[in-house]
Amino acid sequence: MYRTHTCGELRTEHIGQKVTLSGWVQKARELGGMTFVDIRDRYGITQLVFDISKNPELSAPARELGREFVIKVTGEVIERENKNRKLPTGEIELLATELVILNKSEIPPFTIEDESDGGDELRMKYRYLDLRRGPLQKSLELRHKMGIEVRNFLHNQGFFEIETPYLIKSTPEGARDFVVPSRMNTNQFYALPQSPQTFKQLLMISGYDRYFQIVKCFRDEDLRADRQPEFTQIDCEMAFVERDDVLNVFEGLAKHLFKEIKGVEVEGGFQKMPYETAMELYGSDKPDTRFEMTFNDITDMVKGKGFVVFDKAEYIAGICATGCASYSRKELDKLTDFVRKPQIGAQGLIYVKVNEDGTFKSSVDKFFDAGAQKAWADKMGAKPGDLLLVMAGDKNKTQSALSELRLEMGKRLGLMDKNKFSPLWVVDFPLLEWDDENKRYHAMHHPFTSPITDDMHLFDTDPGKIKANAYDLVINGVEIGGGSIRIHDRELQQKMFKALGFSPEEAEEQFGFLMNAFKYGAPPHGGVAFGFDRWVSLFAGFDSIRDVIAFPKNNSGRDVMIDSPSAIAQEQLNELYLKTLKPE
Ligand code: ASP
Repeated sequence: MYRTHTCGELRTEHIGQKVTLSGWVQKARELGGMTFVDIRDRYGITQLVFDISKNPELSAPARELGREFVIKVTGEVIERENKNRKLPTGEIELLATELVILNKSEIPPFTIEDESDGGDELRMKYRYLDLRRGPLQKSLELRHKMGIEVRNFLHNQGFFEIETPYLIKSTPEGARDFVVPSRMNTNQFYALPQSPQTFKQLLMISGYDRYFQIVKCFRDEDLRADRQPEFTQIDCEMAFVERDDVLNVFEGLAKHLFKEIKGVEVEGGFQKMPYETAMELYGSDKPDTRFEMTFNDITDMVKGKGFVVFDKAEYIAGICATGCASYSRKELDKLTDFVRKPQIGAQGLIYVKVNEDGTFKSSVDKFFDAGAQKAWADKMGAKPGDLLLVMAGDKNKTQSALSELRLEMGKRLGLMDKNKFSPLWVVDFPLLEWDDENKRYHAMHHPFTSPITDDMHLFDTDPGKIKANAYDLVINGVEIGGGSIRIHDRELQQKMFKALGFSPEEAEEQFGFLMNAFKYGAPPHGGVAFGFDRWVSLFAGFDSIRDVIAFPKNNSGRDVMIDSPSAIAQEQLNELYLKTLKPE
């Protein structure tokens, strides 16, 4: 037998028992005639003692133990003289009587401790070693628990978990498809699903009115901290539902997870914020509502007063940073540098200090007198000691830059507490988004999203104004999920494809299967999908979803451990009738 207990299990009540542990050597040290070894498995760490006066035959092999050796040790649980209160097993130790080295280890390329000395690339290359570390073990445990709780909750609500295929035809979700060549169908390709969207809709037509799946999705897009080429969704669909039926069920799921995983009871219903309000107040469709500091549009107050930056601008708005009037020149310059970073792309930043003594000091004193500045301060609800930060320019760009600045100030002022959760639904998104470059509309969500009933007539007159019956779940500024009520009517779906610039032939070629299914009794339906990795990383308090994925890809979409993607053998290409070309 390899073990009677795990390395995290022994306590004072086990004192006097003979036990066997197996695990990895975390570290070994000599002290007089004793060798102390920490043995680790995923449950914890236990201290072993090899005492030369009691078991002299073990002292030589014990001295040979190196980091990450796999060992099996039998011995007696004894009380520890120097107790370690930080360790759950810290009151005892195991006095070894037998030692078996199960496997040796080379010296690992980085320290396998909670704080490792290994850089990102190195740890990714040896991910199997990185996964031995406590923080990653905790995050995979959390992921497992969340998966179980999602399944428990949805099962109790009558949902069926149904798998859908990975080798499919393209589903447009706004990214590029990964494609897979078919050997049996020469020169034809499958696409990996960007999501199971069309399949879950077909399941509704088949009568499985509550479906879910914890499922891999594949999108070929540029990567960021919260994106991976393959990621996991909690994908759900329901039939015979209106928007609020869907929101109620999944608010229930979110509350269930808050309670079971974080021990947080969320009272009342989640706020439903229209997209337009989110943009006006936060400049973002995923507002972090843990703190206020909302936008104040002062365009009408300040335009046309001879300050050219404002006079040229389409939109001028500001935020009030509480208690920041004491910011030095240097700190203000830093903020200006922040908004000028290429990722943010603003031209500059205007400040007004609302001094404690009632005076004002601003970067636009030449153009606006104290009276004017007081009017801004009043509009923004500023008190003495506060700092107004104002930006001007094109509306969309300014909103997004000011939104970044708001988040930066939130961070500086300690308003983004990782243990506080502020969930809300953002609703009433625009249905279509105008693409100026290609002079056409794109679906803001996806082409199967239904417009809200009152806006149907706008298809023929002003499609850009149509609102979608779509919703996103946002928690702490993270878009955790999104969904919509779907189109279930063939004609409306055809109208939508037309608005998106598909010819009837293209629509038939790509979505004929769905349009056909709509002929045979499609029930009203709607659903949602949550980014499982994002949700786990939010609950774990990580910024990157990589930390909650066992084997993630790096920023170039590579798995550096298995060295993939990689070239394939000429025979494989031949079988597929494929030839590779050198990039230009
Ligand atoms: N398929 C959508 C997505 O992946 C979610 C949904 O509409 O249910 O974003």
